[in-house]
Amino acid sequence: MRQKLAAGNWKMNGSRAALHEVDELLRLHPEPKVEVLLCPPATHVAWMRERMGQSTFRTGGQDCHSEHHGAHTGDISATMLADVGASYVILGHSERRADHGETDALVAAKVRAAWAAELVAIVCVGETEAERDAGRTLEVIARQLAGSVPDGAAGRNTVIAYEPVWAIGTGRTPTTAQIAEVHAALRAQLHRRFPHEAEAIRLLYGGSVKPGNAAEIFAVADVDGALVGGASLRAADFSPIIAALEAA
Ligand code: PEP
Repeated sequence: MRQKLAAGNWKMNGSRAALHEVDELLRLHPEPKVEVLLCPPATHVAWMRERMGQSTFRTGGQDCHSEHHGAHTGDISATMLADVGASYVILGHSERRADHGETDALVAAKVRAAWAAELVAIVCVGETEAERDAGRTLEVIARQLAGSVPDGAAGRNTVIAYEPVWAIGTGRTPTTAQIAEVHAALRAQLHRRFPHEAEAIRLLYGGSVKPGNAAEIFAVADVDGALVGGASLRAADFSPIIAALEAA
């Protein structure tokens, strides 16, 4: 029922020259059995869309403003991302929450803007290491999900990414039991709040997903794909992750 999603977050990496990685991914996966998404820096979304041509590959942004236009120097709106060919936007990534002080309420406002521009919002939630050590993981995740996802969430407009902050870019990952526990809690909370849509909303795991651990993670119940940072930059790394998701 839920289409699996392999999503790449290039963060502040990449260049026009690096777009040849998209050609290589298209060569390796001309007809992927899962949805493949790459989110480059906003400056490169249009070029990436062009490079993806008629394929089913999708591109998206890594953030957007909560307004559609106006006096917000340096910001980019969801409407603008959609205008250059984005289908998705990542919102509430822990790096945005930490570096830019983004609150759950602001993330929710951005999600509403994304929906208005007909973008699918990938809403990130995740605990810090201190919160996990204090036994507060499920409480933190529940609060972030409640505050960051507005009423109206549905399978067609929202994806949730569970990204433990301590696992991002560190090479460390939770155990499969820990991932399963959080994903089950997320699904249960979605059922309580969006009873008709909960089964359609995809749940991604993110945090040091690599070719070597992808299959194990994709075998976990309620993991519908991955949000991948470092290993999405090169086709040689992202391709085996796509293949593992196809095989899951
Ligand atoms: C991310 O940035 O969303 C992420 C999961 O990064 P990495 O895969 O590099 O840990």
